[in-house]
Amino acid sequence: MLQENLTEVEANIVAACERAGRSRDEVTLIAVSKTKPVPMLQEVYDMGIRNFGENKVQEMCDKIEVLPHDIKWHMIGHLQTNKVKYIVGKTALIHSVDSLKLAEEIQKQAVKKDVYVPILVEVNIAGEESKFGISKEETMELVRQISSLDHLQIKGLMTIAPFVENAEDNRLYFRGIRQLSVDIANQNIDNVSMDILSMGMTGDYAVAIEEGATMVRVGTGIFGARNYNI
Ligand SMILES: *Cc1c(COP(=O)(O)O)cnc(C)c1O
Repeated sequence: MLQENLTEVEANIVAACERAGRSRDEVTLIAVSKTKPVPMLQEVYDMGIRNFGENKVQEMCDKIEVLPHDIKWHMIGHLQTNKVKYIVGKTALIHSVDSLKLAEEIQKQAVKKDVYVPILVEVNIAGEESKFGISKEETMELVRQISSLDHLQIKGLMTIAPFVENAEDNRLYFRGIRQLSVDIANQNIDNVSMDILSMGMTGDYAVAIEEGATMVRVGTGIFGARNYNI
């Protein structure tokens, strides 16, 4: 099942890149493995996937312990400041920085461990109350504030678009966040690059790629539905 799923996702990514006139290697596929057992991750790893996304600190740390060391781990879930110390130095990218307080805690732990931490700023592009992330209007200011923290490296923006039946309904949101990243890049803020746009999940990654996503986070499409009751 995993092989077929992955083949299908890969074909969809290639097709979306072609439609958008983009090269396949501009888009990184992150396999979102939250709630899934280690042997499933190992199987997907054996098929060549090296980027995995998790949303819980403890679960990510447990998996890091036992899986191959060349995996790039992406923290994509809401991060509490008291958990930051457990993951700083272990993640390729933290996608979910949405407050100065959280950024300052990452800075503190990064200084302690003498590491530099690549991050994305999470934007609540549709202004949904149920979602984390900073509002579009406040993003520029937060980016400026975080840019002064010298052990953090802002690499771009992340968003979780609304859950919709029709992925086309999210196209304007993806376009909006892409425009925001261009506007921020144009400010030429020290210590800030806008090379990464992390957007698109199982339901809408093709549209996200057409609108400029450089990282897509696909869980269900690769691993199948999640069961939170186990
Ligand atoms: C769970 C999750 C995903 C993957 O969702 P699917 O719809 O299963 O592809 C992507 N991004 C974030 C932040 C998530 O929490």
